[in-house]
Amino acid sequence: MALKQWLQRGGHWIKQAMPGYCAFCLAPALAGRGWCATCLDELPWNLHACRQCGDPVSHGESLCGYCLIDPPAFSTTQAGLLYQGAIKQLVHDFKFHASPRAGMLLAELMLLTPPDKLGDAFLPVPMTPMHARFRGFNQSHWLAERLNRQLGTPMVSARRIKNAPSQRTLNRRQRAANLTGAFVFEAPPPAHLLIIDDVVTTGSTGHALARAALDAGAKRVDIWAAARTPLGKD
Ligand SMILES: [Zn+2]
Ligand SMILES: [Zn+2]
Repeated sequence: MALKQWLQRGGHWIKQAMPGYCAFCLAPALAGRGWCATCLDELPWNLHACRQCGDPVSHGESLCGYCLIDPPAFSTTQAGLLYQGAIKQLVHDFKFHASPRAGMLLAELMLLTPPDKLGDAFLPVPMTPMHARFRGFNQSHWLAERLNRQLGTPMVSARRIKNAPSQRTLNRRQRAANLTGAFVFEAPPPAHLLIIDDVVTTGSTGHALARAALDAGAKRVDIWAAARTPLGKD
């Protein structure tokens, strides 16, 4: 019940939570962790997901219907959690309140469910310079740097030269078309890239970035994100 109480209070305790105590319920944390065993257990784990896009699927299926019919440019998605409840609040604290503690917790949670292969380099999702100035920081880059310090995998970067207009009312194909030409590589990237992101929403950003990487010379691109928004019907 600890997580539920945290959410009912508005979930804004992360910023004040002290090291050594669970960020969600303020009970003593597991040794070296930011959470207690109960809260860890109650997190929305993405247990049965499409291997390629990370969208939840029925038990026993490895690919969702969309990836079977129209596969994206990236090969697999590892997103250990669903963008719901406590994870939604944590991402919000990280992204919109720039809480480093929330960011550290997300990186630690990612490290609990790493992908099979880390690839040759991490590739954070780039923002346009204007968007980065507005936000104050790039959350994908922040996470990638943190994971790079833990795992030693080098980082490469791409430039974003175009933001997609509001994507909400568009279908998958229209979204992907909107982002065509949005990403540019200054130098040919290494063969196997792992895109790092906080939340995978529709997969269209990952698809466009992976497409650009493959066009620039990469051989394979995967995604490692903290969480996945369940698409349901889309
Ligand atoms: Zn707890
Ligand atoms: Zn899929």
